[in-house]
Amino acid sequence: MAPILEIRDLAKSFGAVDVLKDIDISIEKGDFLVLVGPSGCGKSTLLNCIAGLEPITAGTIAIDGRDMTDVPPKDRDIAMVFQSYALYPTMSVARNITFGMRVRGVDKATQDRKLAEVARLLQIEPLLDRRPKQLSGGQRQRVAMGRALVRDPKLFLFDEPLSNLDAKLRVEMRAEIRKLHQSLGATMVYVTHDQIEAMTLATKIAVLKDGIIHQIGSPTEIYNRPADMFVADFMGSPS
Ligand code: ADP
Ligand code: MG
Repeated sequence: MAPILEIRDLAKSFGAVDVLKDIDISIEKGDFLVLVGPSGCGKSTLLNCIAGLEPITAGTIAIDGRDMTDVPPKDRDIAMVFQSYALYPTMSVARNITFGMRVRGVDKATQDRKLAEVARLLQIEPLLDRRPKQLSGGQRQRVAMGRALVRDPKLFLFDEPLSNLDAKLRVEMRAEIRKLHQSLGATMVYVTHDQIEAMTLATKIAVLKDGIIHQIGSPTEIYNRPADMFVADFMGSPS
């Protein structure tokens, strides 16, 4: 099977500062890749490079076999969910979710159908007429996910989507994201600094430190056969 996302020898610098080095990643349809590592190690930068929001310094990124070098973010067939929800405050939940479809000129019947599907999936049907400020943190994050889901993209990119939620809600939402991933057969790249989140969600984990992937593999491999001391310490592997 051809990879959905293939990154080769990627490097990224901000001025003289090398933030990502020698990044090689390959994932297939249905994979749930978690990028995990301490704050500042380059996770968000890597996600932004995949999304096309940051230009890369060297290497290549291909999505579904197509080189992305000259492809702007809006043509990459991805949907991104951020930590900070980024909902439009003056629009209702329904209009937040359908906004992208309206911009792309999707017909009204399709908009309504997709909105209904996603609202049912995320259990936000009773909230569709509310404004973002009338929602709890968890409800807002569901709306942000709804906006990504209606795009039905080749690749979902999630940047610490649960880190603003309290511990109990985080555990609930984690389970929901798992279910969503399974029921949609979606392909995900998911950033977190939380090892437990990585272990519960991933089909594949990449452990980063200082812009370098120390190890990439299945959760069991990473946990039971850490490549070095850093991975062992960070993932809490038994010694
Ligand atoms: P993470 O998401 O893992 O916490 P980031 O990708 O946000 O890490 O940041 C990685 C490094 O790159 C940090 O040292 C950060 O200060 C630096 N960095 C991120 N964005 C920029 C930028 N726009 N300009 C300069 N340095 C940046
Ligand atoms: Mg980050």
